[in-house]
Amino acid sequence: ATPTAVMVATGVGANNGVLIKGGDALERAQKVQYVIFDKTGTLTQGKATVTNVKIFTEMDRGDFLRLLASAEASSEHPLAKAILAYARHFQFFETTATKDSQDNNNQSALSEWLFEALDFSAIPGRGVQCYINGKQILVGNRSLLTENGIAIPTDVENFVVDLEENAKTGILVAYNAELLGVVGVADPLKREAAVVVEGLKKMGVVPIMVTGDNWRTARAVAKELDIQDIRAEVMPAGKADVIRSFQKDGSIVAMVGDGINDSPALAAADVGIAIGAGADIAIEAADYVLMKNNLEDVIIAIDLSRKTFSRIR
Ligand code: ADP
Ligand code: MG
Repeated sequence: ATPTAVMVATGVGANNGVLIKGGDALERAQKVQYVIFDKTGTLTQGKATVTNVKIFTEMDRGDFLRLLASAEASSEHPLAKAILAYARHFQFFETTATKDSQDNNNQSALSEWLFEALDFSAIPGRGVQCYINGKQILVGNRSLLTENGIAIPTDVENFVVDLEENAKTGILVAYNAELLGVVGVADPLKREAAVVVEGLKKMGVVPIMVTGDNWRTARAVAKELDIQDIRAEVMPAGKADVIRSFQKDGSIVAMVGDGINDSPALAAADVGIAIGAGADIAIEAADYVLMKNNLEDVIIAIDLSRKTFSRIR
């Protein structure tokens, strides 16, 4: 391809909301054999909503949600946002808000309602921990709890398994070393996800899914999309290793992701493709940015590269 052809293709991409960072990236896309998709926020809308709240102790719903939301308030994770949105709704409609706080916006009313969380830390691929009223609270997956010495009773485990078999994520909450309850969160697939997976297969490209989420949820999601090869319970650093394992035999691999935890994998891939609505660090690490957040543009990107470079073969 001539420099002019590359310039034209880059322009066509840009006009269609596909930003391409340079001619090399444009050229590599034609050779892609595997497209590895992150799950949350990439194949799914990343707009998780709370669908279940189950409390396994005597604690009332308001107190439970108040603790939980206070712990998640400093997290940027889509799951945390879902919990905050749910708590905001609960707090606004079900607590006796004063006239004053109703006059204010929703946001400030919620922050007044929340407890102060001290010593907050986000544990990638696990959840969050902090201290509220002098006691530790843990909010996250099984590993987060077990690694902190908290056993998961059978009834809780059964409830979580049930959520996961329905493609939901179960978030466990422990306070002061006691398992309080579980929140079920659903994150719908992007409308175009299944069509894109099918389209890639037709182009001879193998779609793969990689996620930090648990195996059961991952399998349920992959089944809906007809993706055969998946990797679940992958730690952020592990996503780049997954990319490298596919590259070992010289295969050309694209990674599509949106999160902070996807950036090492986006950098390791031959073609890193970031979702425009994703984290800044993911966008920086990528070769392509999909400004419309539409997965169909993954196909457009590969097509554009194939068309631009086919003449010289
Ligand atoms: P993905 O790879 O699908 O984008 P992540 O690596 O971000 O997922 O998260 C993996 C898992 O860690 C989540 O499915 C969840 O169980 C847990 N987790 C991470 N952050 C949080 C949080 N802020 N609150 C609750 N759970 C969390
Ligand atoms: Mg993600």
